[in-house]
Amino acid sequence: LNRRLAEFGTTVFAEMSALAAATGSINLGQGFPDTDGPEEVREAAVRALRDGRGNQYPPGPGVPELRRAIGDHQLRRYGLALDPDTEVLVTAGATEAIAAAMLALVEPGDEVVALEPYYDSYAACVAMAGGCRVPVTLRPHEGAFRLDLDELRDAVTDRTRLLLINTPHNPTGTVLTREELAAIAGLAVERDLLVLTDEVYEHLVYDDAEHVPLASFPGMRERTVTISSAGKTFSFTGWKVGWITGAPELVTAVRSAKQYLTYVSAGPFQYAVAEALALPDSYFDELRTNLAAKRELLTAGLEAAGFGVFRPAGTYFVTTDIRPLGESDGIAFCRELPERAGVVAIPAAVFYDDREAGAPFVRFAFCKRDEVLREAATRLASLA
Ligand code: PMP
Ligand code: GLN
Repeated sequence: LNRRLAEFGTTVFAEMSALAAATGSINLGQGFPDTDGPEEVREAAVRALRDGRGNQYPPGPGVPELRRAIGDHQLRRYGLALDPDTEVLVTAGATEAIAAAMLALVEPGDEVVALEPYYDSYAACVAMAGGCRVPVTLRPHEGAFRLDLDELRDAVTDRTRLLLINTPHNPTGTVLTREELAAIAGLAVERDLLVLTDEVYEHLVYDDAEHVPLASFPGMRERTVTISSAGKTFSFTGWKVGWITGAPELVTAVRSAKQYLTYVSAGPFQYAVAEALALPDSYFDELRTNLAAKRELLTAGLEAAGFGVFRPAGTYFVTTDIRPLGESDGIAFCRELPERAGVVAIPAAVFYDDREAGAPFVRFAFCKRDEVLREAATRLASLA
């Protein structure tokens, strides 16, 4: 492994999913639903396969049907009008979007300011691009992880090229408010920064939280690359259909990198996701309602078991504090949890540069069947 990647090794998700399988534990670690997405969308994929749509190399930017559907979705949900031919690029999941954007937009030595804790591929992709990551830590405040805008402002230097934002935020479940996003946008414009915004959990927001795309703020359109994924919105994480949207020059740049990563993304699923994006609003409402109920189930179970719980406003993750259980090392705790309780979780420390700062936090996923969450709660109760 070269020096750029030496610190990364195996992702925590692979390690923890393997541990779940080896110990027969309930896997609340890696974030993937245990129920597949809509039947009609699966049927659409089967039809595409059978009818020979996408079985040979599809067009590089993605099939026109999907690019149009992505544009229609951004217009319908957020009032953002996009040209599907120049402002949309289909990628192999959001993961490739992150990698291609970093490789296309970051020069060696450029600083990338990212919210910490950060999704693990951010750090690796910044490193592969030769950039330097500059974390801005979200800190617990009144039951949620919050961004300190002054810290964000102070993190920007003359070498900053890119702000990497993620809202709704994995792993904390924080949803940045309109005011926070306006401040981020103001900073980006003032310091003339590019912004890469990972909005894969755009539909997973609860209560009165609202997802507002960063690209919708004044001055942001020309400097923002927005990422999303069918994995999260339609519960098909295995299909690996993601996309970016943004100004033509930015999309063209990211596409240049994508060409040499995967060339194109798998064809038939793109047609199916095009149909999924056109589902009526009731689909998206129901997804949210279902997950909100699961959030209640798991947070109640974790609280009863004695964890400190940061109630998430979005995503399908809940981050907990294990100190009330008399524990302080999340990595050790997660390694022992299968043995102690038959449950797998993710130590948030792996999403921090400063492992100490993240040590007491542990993430659980609640995108699981209700009976699985109930059983996990029962098992975790034995820790109290
Ligand atoms: N960004 C975030 C914040 C995520 O949580 C995930 C899913 N783990 C991804 C990107 C990757 O998405 P995909 O599965 O579409 O590659
Ligand atoms: N996004 C999911 C998570 O955060 C899984 C991603 C992965 O396995 N790379 O758990």
